[in-house]
Amino acid sequence: MFIDGQWVSANNGAFFDVFNPSNGEKIGEVADGDRNDSQRAIEAAQRAFGPWSGLTAYQRSEYLYRAYQLMMEHREHLARVMTEEQGKPMKASRGEVQYGADFLLWYAEEAKRVYGEIIPAPRSDQRFMVLHQPVGVVAAITPWNYPTSMVTRKVAPALAAGCTIVLKPAEATPLCAIEVFKILEQAGIPAGVVNLVTALNPVPIGETFVTNPLVRKITFTGSTEVGKILAKGAADQVKRVSLELGGHAPFIVFEDSDPIYAAKGAVLVKFLNTGQACISPNRIFVHSSIVDPFVEEFKTRVSRMRAGSGFEDGVSIGPLVDSAALQKVERQVSNALDNGAILVCGGRRLLDDNLEKGYFYAPTVLIDVTPEMLIYREETFGPVAPIITFDTEEEVLTMANDTHYGLAAYVYTHNLSRAMRMFEGLRFGIIGINDINPTAAAAPFGGMKESGMGREGGRDGIAEYLETKLGGFSV
Ligand code: ADP
Repeated sequence: MFIDGQWVSANNGAFFDVFNPSNGEKIGEVADGDRNDSQRAIEAAQRAFGPWSGLTAYQRSEYLYRAYQLMMEHREHLARVMTEEQGKPMKASRGEVQYGADFLLWYAEEAKRVYGEIIPAPRSDQRFMVLHQPVGVVAAITPWNYPTSMVTRKVAPALAAGCTIVLKPAEATPLCAIEVFKILEQAGIPAGVVNLVTALNPVPIGETFVTNPLVRKITFTGSTEVGKILAKGAADQVKRVSLELGGHAPFIVFEDSDPIYAAKGAVLVKFLNTGQACISPNRIFVHSSIVDPFVEEFKTRVSRMRAGSGFEDGVSIGPLVDSAALQKVERQVSNALDNGAILVCGGRRLLDDNLEKGYFYAPTVLIDVTPEMLIYREETFGPVAPIITFDTEEEVLTMANDTHYGLAAYVYTHNLSRAMRMFEGLRFGIIGINDINPTAAAAPFGGMKESGMGREGGRDGIAEYLETKLGGFSV
């Protein structure tokens, strides 16, 4: 763990094991922290807050810029650790390191643009001035699916704003977080400004984040279920909360689009990270008049995908994170088949070529999916593409919005008016129009409804770490 500028063991001396999900092999041991460790980290962050927030934005920017440069220098190493610990193919790991580094660079720049405001006051002898100040100590919890970029997506804007931070990474991927913190250490960031608490059991750490009054903000990326627990807990001390939670993205293909091009995009984004992404398409709606060529192309592309270790060339499907994830996918697929869905390809755990040691599931395509099936309602987080046909724009908009999630949505159409109607009508925070990658460090990422609150990235991303203060001056 990294607390107050030192690499330390857990207070109780405990460790936990980290495994490679591709083959089940143990790849490391990490300090197993508890309440005492997270309290210590919070106190260190509190001590560091005054001096860090007192630096100029230019000084904070320099640290972030140095961290960006170091992350780029160590890109290959960071990618290798990620592929070993999380299982994604090397190409995807390299891409994620770049995406993670982008947040350091973007917020190194944005730190210098935390502008205030002068507002015309109602009285002639009055002046109004608005100032933005850092919220204080931030507690962050990150997931295993994007184990590097989710760390910098929180750390970079928090530090840019002048906050200090304590971060708890997912228990499945602490090594990636440790590598990022080594970079932050090398960048010379002062002791206590960034703290890392690793733990096998997240509950006590989450509880100290919620109950310790020194923590003024909680930022979380993970499941909706855990997000609700944290939000409820944070309410007691009215802490600021940002939540990036689950998704159930619709991917809508209209009859005026090219079904071949749309199928190519759908396959790329559906199987990204083996479907383990909150913006992964979970319901693919295709107009009935083009469903046949779409499914044909989709199937051809899926059949070419190879599963295996992310270190092997040509592999695009990595393992699922654990056996519970595998069981969830198996349950959704068998429930869909029992209720009349048709299996186009896949539909089974992969056990040949040594894959039985990892949690591999074949990329799967289902057609004739209907609203009665679990897969129509539940987030899948796995390599299963359920295809649903529709006939009218009105009908598909209603179906797409019929979920308590609201993170990402995708639309394929060549009709500009329709594109605008869908952009405005879909109740989701991120909409890709003929675009499967509507994300970047400069752009606000986040969801509506039970997909969360707050945004990460862009101008909105730093506002999450700032208070607004109004000064009224009589002159
Ligand atoms: P997933 O289902 O994708 O694993 P989780 O929400 O369980 O998502 O995990 C995301 C992050 O939340 C991880 O860092 C995990 O350790 C943490 N977490 C899980 N349960 C709790 C909890 N009760 N309190 C605080 N953090 C938690």
